[in-house]
Amino acid sequence: MATMNAAPPEMSLKTSNGKAKVSEQPAVVIQESAYHTAMTQFDHAVQFLNLDPGLSQLLKTCKRELTVSFPVKMDNGEIRIFTGYRVHHNTARGPSKGGIRYNLSVSLDEVRALAMWMTWKCAVVNIPYGGAKGGVICDPKKLSLHELEGLTRRYTTEIAPLISPEGDIPAPDMGTNPQIMAWMMDTYSMHRGYSVPAIVTGKPINIGGSAGRLEATGHGVMYTVREAFKTYGWKFDGATVAVQGFGNVGSITAITAYEMGCKVIALSDIEGGLYNPNGIDVPKLRQYRKEHGTIMGFSEADPITNADLIAMPCDCLIPAAMEDQLNRSNASTVRARMVAEGANGPTTPDADSIMNGKGIIVIPDILCNAGGVVVSYFEWVQDMQQLFWEEDDVNHRLERIMVRSFRDVYEMSQQMNIDLRTAALVLAIGRVAESTKTRGLYP
Ligand code: GLU
Repeated sequence: MATMNAAPPEMSLKTSNGKAKVSEQPAVVIQESAYHTAMTQFDHAVQFLNLDPGLSQLLKTCKRELTVSFPVKMDNGEIRIFTGYRVHHNTARGPSKGGIRYNLSVSLDEVRALAMWMTWKCAVVNIPYGGAKGGVICDPKKLSLHELEGLTRRYTTEIAPLISPEGDIPAPDMGTNPQIMAWMMDTYSMHRGYSVPAIVTGKPINIGGSAGRLEATGHGVMYTVREAFKTYGWKFDGATVAVQGFGNVGSITAITAYEMGCKVIALSDIEGGLYNPNGIDVPKLRQYRKEHGTIMGFSEADPITNADLIAMPCDCLIPAAMEDQLNRSNASTVRARMVAEGANGPTTPDADSIMNGKGIIVIPDILCNAGGVVVSYFEWVQDMQQLFWEEDDVNHRLERIMVRSFRDVYEMSQQMNIDLRTAALVLAIGRVAESTKTRGLYP
């Protein structure tokens, strides 16, 4: 089902005359919403579990939702009002965990879907967390560093009633980064009067971050892909890979694929894509991007469009950008043998059925990109114990969890004769349902 999904605009409020004006009007995007995708996936998977209808309804519903509107003083003296959210989907298995997104497309429904996916993600890799998500409607690229800091500190204060090291732990997501986590940690700590490193994960290492956290999602994607190739008896060495997105997840995934001996034949970012049938030198491209601010114009590859990248014949296509990238209109063009989801929600339910029909193996987001939250968990444990691990140790533990989780999901899919996404959801929803039953209903 296609839905109109218009995010509320950022408002601008002039202090001088008190007159409100809309300063930024995000485009109305017609797309399959993340919320619709999450709900459809849940409804499909839950049919394979014999759950009480009340319990099923409980698991489908977000537990707690906070909407905040708050002012930020811009560099030009203007006061602008921003809207943000923090949603807890479920806490049956532990404190809620999930990132903070800064993007113009953020909406309450999107945050709800992302929070729900966090619950399933933590359950599928069996770490003791529930799911949450947060976001602010803004374009972080259009804010100065000073404005970004002001927005982050005020947003942190506004959502403070919902976050704590024992209750709900934010982390980076699209549009946020370690520096933003540092400001969140500092703001929360200032209110407490002492340092609380465990309030967020994905922080810089010098204030309690974990070695390997920045690379964790990308590493996790490739540990999972390697295990999948092994399981299906496919040759991993020299396998051809196409990666959509060159942000934190996409770029680290591409570099890791390159270092593991795969041939990264196509890559893209928001401005366009690159193709080289002999493989792109990804570290060199990264250096090029550092110097030029874009991947376009890199001389050792030919320019391609996003549609070309999606339709690239290859062993593994990795969507690592955002939601709704593989949908009803382009799924039939996919010619990869496997799709490994680095982003959250990149495949719509329609695209899932089309690709399943074509025999394409889809490793679902809640399994494939769980490396980030796994190392977030390690970071949180290290902060609580104030005892820090070596990077090697972090990577080995991460690899063990990703490999074990892939095997658990694969076995479930074989046993029940279902695709990997449904298997991952059945495993995850089943685990959360069991914890809920064990705890019992209060009061
Ligand atoms: N934002 C990441 C995700 O979607 C990481 C969340 C976390 O580490 O809490 O999985």
